[in-house]
Amino acid sequence: MFESLQELVLEAESKEKSLAEIVIETEIVISKLSVAEVRQRMEIRLATMKASAQQGLERPIKSISGISGGGAHKFWHWLDTNEPVTGSLLSRAVARALSVNEVNAGMGCIVATPTAGSAGILPATLITLQEKYHFSDDEVVDALFVASGIGMVVVNRANVSGAMGGCQAETGSAAAMAAGASVALLGGTPRQSAQAVGIALKNMLGLVCDPVAGLVEVPCVKRNAAGVAQCFVAIDLALAGVESIIPPDEVIDAMAHVGKVMDKNLKETGMGGLAATPTGKRLAAQIWGEGKKH
Ligand code: SF4
Repeated sequence: MFESLQELVLEAESKEKSLAEIVIETEIVISKLSVAEVRQRMEIRLATMKASAQQGLERPIKSISGISGGGAHKFWHWLDTNEPVTGSLLSRAVARALSVNEVNAGMGCIVATPTAGSAGILPATLITLQEKYHFSDDEVVDALFVASGIGMVVVNRANVSGAMGGCQAETGSAAAMAAGASVALLGGTPRQSAQAVGIALKNMLGLVCDPVAGLVEVPCVKRNAAGVAQCFVAIDLALAGVESIIPPDEVIDAMAHVGKVMDKNLKETGMGGLAATPTGKRLAAQIWGEGKKH
């Protein structure tokens, strides 16, 4: 179990292996499964990711509460006739990130990467890169193992829970995992992958968890879209050789510290931030009834 990205990178460099190979080696020791079996399990997860990234594009998906949904479908079809300022690659990834999180809010099937609330960022990024650069599913599966290794380090040094560390721990970690995995997919070095993690996470430090009515919908769905954008920025900077002055492992430690000192109202209690706005409170009352606490 890797405690640091530095350890992971050094192991890959010293063995002259990819990050994916190092993570798979670890996984087969932990799970006692063969390489073929762990890859097959990841292929199943990739299929679920692809389905959830597609469903919201094909039809508007409303959440059970009714306060969110339909944005992925609307945005995807808007792209048919409009040129987004974010460019076609990022905007297509944004649409897919929205889709996954709308599926989640609609009680559909997603893969928590690393959590349900942040489940859109990793699949949206990898699927969109696959579409553009024609990567095989095998190559995307390798990238998912890289993301897993990064997630393992984040969990070992900090956490990926909004209730413990705010949204930085959820969507921040997801953006970091997606950025590191994408750099590996695009041919970057293990060190560049680690740098992408550091850059993505540092740019999301301090992000609070403030779900309206305590539901993983508002602002969660759109936070995934923003997480994809942060991820894309980190990918390009890392591939260009731009490095984080604060080493990536220290960025993860900083995220853990910020989470510890963050006010409890801003850690998934639905009592602060956007949840505490007049509209947030009105929607909570509409869903749960006046005076009732969720
Ligand atoms: S706001 Fe909270 S519940 Fe929503 S995605 Fe962020 S961490 Fe998860």
